[in-house]
Amino acid sequence: MKSAIEMKAMHTRMLSPSFYVLPLGTSGGLEEDNLSSYLLASINDYIPSSTYIALDCGTIRHGIEMAIEHKSLPEDTDIDVFIRNQIKAYLISHGHLDRVSGFLLNNPNDKAEKVIVGLNETIQIIQDHYYNNKAWINFGPTGLKTYNYQILDPFSSTSVPIPGTDFDVRIFRLCHICPFLSSAFLISRRTYSSEAVLYLGDTGPDDVEKMTLPNNRTYSPGYLKQLWQAITPLIAERKLKAIFIEVSYPNGRSSNQLFGHLTPEWLLKELNVLRRYHKINNVKIIITHIKPEKNARNTIIKELNSATSLGFNFVFPTQGRGIWL
Ligand SMILES: [Zn+2]
Ligand SMILES: [Zn+2]
Repeated sequence: MKSAIEMKAMHTRMLSPSFYVLPLGTSGGLEEDNLSSYLLASINDYIPSSTYIALDCGTIRHGIEMAIEHKSLPEDTDIDVFIRNQIKAYLISHGHLDRVSGFLLNNPNDKAEKVIVGLNETIQIIQDHYYNNKAWINFGPTGLKTYNYQILDPFSSTSVPIPGTDFDVRIFRLCHICPFLSSAFLISRRTYSSEAVLYLGDTGPDDVEKMTLPNNRTYSPGYLKQLWQAITPLIAERKLKAIFIEVSYPNGRSSNQLFGHLTPEWLLKELNVLRRYHKINNVKIIITHIKPEKNARNTIIKELNSATSLGFNFVFPTQGRGIWL
């Protein structure tokens, strides 16, 4: 039996925020100063930790500038020192340029012995196509050694520590135009493992993403469904604070025009699959990667908000504006 004091402490913890998110880039392309990237820190007693991890890295420097402007970081933050000392690891969902460009451009100024975290396939792209001393200098472990690679195994169901941080991570595969793989990271706090967030890179819907076998038969790998099943226990225990997931386009696209992405309709369809396992009213759904097409953002907000009454809790992040979870 837990004592009354322990119960009260647990209850206070459940109400007080656990994670601090700094959106450094929220757009799904084209805007080179606002490409997908989110910094994540843990919060203790309402104070964010000074140690961050980056979830994708399309835009880094300008995002930090915007965070200072929005007072989400202290006014006297030195951006170079912040990048060097406070961002400890870079978690990359897939190798597309819009997820790594800001990171790569800031490599020359970064501090040694940090980690790049991802699927083997993603690390391979970074190594072979960026760090090949042609497209870019080799900042990896076989070159200047600024970064080590932390390759995560999607078949493992245990989380592993991210070096230099108070976070553990587990990876899941996603389809981003089959057979190209993207991934999702489940980040949990090591000391209070009761709390976690789920971050998804680009993904198409399960019903659209099909793999082709050598005999030309197709099948659906169903990665989102597998992911939903894996996180359901966390939702049931009220441990999962948020799901970051993409909505690239407004409704009205045919499924052969999705290019490995979601629309509001497809997102709701996927979230309804998740909701069959457990209700998700307490989980914030943070919408990422909206393509900067005319009115897309407003249209997507309208299309998703019309479903809010159904028990979804959507958040539309703004570059530089901190989010408490
Ligand atoms: Zn993208
Ligand atoms: Zn992509």
